[in-house]
Order: sequence, then structure tokens, then C-alpha cells
Amino acid sequence: MRLETLAVHAGHAIDPATGAVSMPIHLSTTFERDVEGSYSRGFMYTRNDNPNRRALEQGISALEGGQAAAAFGSGTAAAMALFHALSPGDHVLAHVDAYYGTSRLLREIFLQWRLEADFIDMSDIKLIKKALRPNTKLAWAETPSNPLLKIVDLAAVADAVHASGALCVCDNTWAPTLQRPFHCGMDLILHSTTKYFGGHCDVLGGIVVAKTDDEFFQRVRRIQYCGGAVPSPFDCWLVLRGMRTLPWRMRAHSENAMKVASFLAQHREVEHVHYPGLSLHPEHTLATKQMSMYGGMLSCEVKGGRDQAMSAAAKTKIFTRATSLGGVESLIEHRASIEGPGTTSPEGLLRLSIGLENAEDLIEDLDQALG
Ligand code: PLP
Repeated sequence: MRLETLAVHAGHAIDPATGAVSMPIHLSTTFERDVEGSYSRGFMYTRNDNPNRRALEQGISALEGGQAAAAFGSGTAAAMALFHALSPGDHVLAHVDAYYGTSRLLREIFLQWRLEADFIDMSDIKLIKKALRPNTKLAWAETPSNPLLKIVDLAAVADAVHASGALCVCDNTWAPTLQRPFHCGMDLILHSTTKYFGGHCDVLGGIVVAKTDDEFFQRVRRIQYCGGAVPSPFDCWLVLRGMRTLPWRMRAHSENAMKVASFLAQHREVEHVHYPGLSLHPEHTLATKQMSMYGGMLSCEVKGGRDQAMSAAAKTKIFTRATSLGGVESLIEHRASIEGPGTTSPEGLLRLSIGLENAEDLIEDLDQALG
């Protein structure tokens, strides 16, 4: 089946008990044992497994072309499970422009647990080769990156990292359905399903998808049910519902973002636009090879730095000043002030999550806000 068909059907089945077309939400925390003590219906206790979570895991795993998946209560909990599955003394190679929260997890939590980490520009394969160590167990790629929209060549990263025996994970949160990390050789995919999968800014979630249901993934699975950072049945239901329209929403987000990026690129108050769909973007050719469209996220640097950027964000009428991304409504945020001390985001940078409004309305709103 092709992506759009998988998105609608994977993880869904007609409810055998009632014929319901939309899957019931199973709130029960506990499940009946058979008379001889077994659980022939496959469920025992909802932290271990739940019908809605299983459906979500099967659905996203099928969409990405993996063998298995483990869903969590947030994207960060999913990332945490991947790091927990490593051992003290293991080394992680991470993208310097990875999601701030992922870098912070490594720096503030896992270094204390004696994981080692280096943050490098993963778009430079020579740097990756130099940074790999005998104890490197995981390389963390994120593309397009946050907030500079750098593009990482996933196939080249996989080749370089596999040569040293480590695993590769791709945080695919920003471009679900637009790029296929397993086809590029990645071993694991992470999504914050809070974003495009949910699609409406009303559910928090995360998932790890494994290309192979191997020993490493089984460790992630154990951490999921022993650690208990699992999503609620209703949250699983919402994310799986969101997936049904995901490929079509991603197309519309991408079309709108392309129009907004092209407008901003010629605006007199804008110094620089970061969007891989623009031919000016340094990795535009790679993005065109790796992605079917360029996604709904972009950032721009406003002339005049922080004050001008804050002032433009304050004047928007359709864009909402809020963090996060991937919903139907467009959001704008001054990234450096959200990230706080230690941020590497330029002070004049505004990050835009382009929603599903009419692109002309978004352009007019930005035009009046930039002045
Ligand atoms: N990965 C990326 C690329 C993100 O943008 C985010 C959140 O913004 C996360 C992971 C973390 O996800 P969550 O907020 O669901 O914990």
C-alpha cells in the first residue's frame, strides 16, 4: 500500500464486538485473566500494553516501514528511552542543531549517568567520521534541523556511522511522510507525535520506530513498560486519528510554507530565510533528493535583531505567538528567548510553523507585522 492508504488504514480495524468503524477507546487499566491464569486476549495491565497503544504502534510502524514501535507520553520521553537503552560509558554523536530539549537531555541528565556525547554539525560527513569513537553506540540525526533548517544527508550519515558499528536514529518530527529515514539506512526513527501526527495542538506524545525488532529495540520496549512513561488510551486514539490525514496535511503545510518563504526571501526587513525549498538554501539539492516536499517549518532572521523580531511577532494577527509546531494554525516564536540561556539561535530569528490557513492571508499578516 502507498503512504496515503497506509495512513488511513494502518492500525485501524472494524471493532469485532460492535462493528464500530472508529476504534473504541479502551480506558480499562486492567484486563481479565482466563480461568487457568493466562491472558489469551493479549492484554494484562494498561502500562504494559493497551489496545489503543498497540494500534498506534502498529499504525506508525507500518507507515514508516518498520518492524516495531514503542509509544511514549511525549517525544522527550521517547528520546529518554533511547538514551536509557544505552549503557554508562557509551558515546552518543548528536547534531549541534538538534531540538534544544534533546541536547539538554544529554547535557543535563545523561552526562551524569556517564553517557558521553559530542555535538557536531551532522551535515559535514568529514566531521562525523572524525568524531566517531570506538565506544560510539548511537548517532542522532535530525533533519530539517531546529531552528536553522539544516539538511542532514541521512544515507551518508548511515554509511559513515554503520562503518563504526553504531546505530543511527533520525528524529523525523519535522518531516513525517516527506522523507523515509529507513529507506536512507537509518535504524531507528523518533517522532514527537505532539506535532504533525496529532496535527491540532491538542495531544502530547512520542514514538520510537525500529527498522528491526532487535535486542536494542527490546531494551526500549522494556524501558517503556517498566518505566511507565506511556501515553493514555485517548492520546493514542487522537494521534492515530491524526495520522489518517497526515500525508495530505503535510502537502498543504509544505505548499503554504513554500509561498511564505518565497515572500519573506524578498522582503526588505528580512535578512535571511531558512527554508530548504528555496534554491538559495545551501542544502537545497540534497533536500530535493531526500524529501518529496520541504515541510511546513521555516525560520527567518529579521533586520535589527532581537527588538525588531520581538516587535514583528507582537504585531501578527493570524499567527499566534506560541511555541511548538505542526498544528492547523500558524505559530510564530522568538526562538532565542524560548530556549533561554545557552541558546545558539540568532537573536533576530523568528521560527514559523506554517498552518493550513490560506497562504495569502499569512503573507499579508507577516507583511503588516514586519512593516
Ligand atoms: N523533537 C523535535 C524535533 C521537536 O521539535 C520536539 C518538540 O518540539 C521534540 C522532539 C520533543 O517532543 P515533545 O515536546 O513531545 O516532548
